[in-house]
Amino acid sequence: MIIVLKRETTEADAKALLGKIEGIGLKSLYMPGSERTVLGALGDERVLGQLHLDSHPLVESVKPILAEYKLVSREMHPHDTVVRVGEHAVGGQEIFVIGGPCAVESRAQMVATGEAVKTAGAQALRGGAFKPRTSPYSFQGLGEEGLQILEDVAGELGLPAVTEVVEVADVEAVCRHADALQVGARNMQNFRLLKALGQCGKPVVLKRGMAATVKDLLLAAEYIVSEGNEQVILCERGIRTFETSTRNTLDLNAIPFIKQRSHLPVLVDPSHGTGRRELVEPMARAAIACGADGVMVETHHAPAEALSDGAQSLFPEQFARLMTSLRTIAEAVGRTMSLGAGT
Ligand code: PEP
Ligand code: MN
Repeated sequence: MIIVLKRETTEADAKALLGKIEGIGLKSLYMPGSERTVLGALGDERVLGQLHLDSHPLVESVKPILAEYKLVSREMHPHDTVVRVGEHAVGGQEIFVIGGPCAVESRAQMVATGEAVKTAGAQALRGGAFKPRTSPYSFQGLGEEGLQILEDVAGELGLPAVTEVVEVADVEAVCRHADALQVGARNMQNFRLLKALGQCGKPVVLKRGMAATVKDLLLAAEYIVSEGNEQVILCERGIRTFETSTRNTLDLNAIPFIKQRSHLPVLVDPSHGTGRRELVEPMARAAIACGADGVMVETHHAPAEALSDGAQSLFPEQFARLMTSLRTIAEAVGRTMSLGAGT
């Protein structure tokens, strides 16, 4: 329920009401605003009747939150959430671009690729150390060694590091090395992992499962936020459809849909969304045009040698061209985008 308090309500009055909401076993939320204070009551709302809030002298209105997801909904939180990754604000005016290889393969590979994406203006460096691969025979990632390489190279370049965490037992180690933790498509509904990330204190990039609806994605985000971590960035990465000409079908409908219903920032991953490097730039442009807050783009200094996802990885020159081309779109839709010194 959303409980809007009257203008004259003091902080002490609001806190007393919060105590009552908690006293009947509901989770309470305190949202002071410049005009009015709003309280939230989450849980089995039927018990709320016991408090007779409708007739409370300081309560202006009580309304249900219609969406199944509550904390991530715009009904509950009308303003955009801005998530900080390193020095960057994701979900504000500026477009956020994460570049880097699918997987961390070696220090030399991360240095070469990292320098290329940094020069082109990327705001963060990606690279998977724990790779969730469809086949057990494919490269599985370098594990902790990969985390250390990513941290070192990102640190030298002055970029925040983004990497995937695949299980609860690794959350602590990944937190020690990375600035933002990615939950991959195959783990979007690993609820124990989501809950652990709700307590990790770092930003989370939550990718949409390949067979998940937008509602499933928002409910997965709700798991993280309801454990106390509001720093969630959603990422559309394409879904499985009957179409076979591309690796996935990049669902750009989801972007304006999510932006209307949720306050969380949304990125698009056109690399996994298409599976083909020649489609990455047009789809990245389309993503920014339809309201995404940024993109995550796989890039490799030598894609032909990549141990994973080479066919969808951009060459460094392509990444640099993509950055300049995205800025044109960003400006056309009233956003800003900073480019590196090298372009
Ligand atoms: C990745 O980002 O490299 C990855 C494995 O993505 P997804 O989980 O979207 O398949
Ligand atoms: Mn990949």
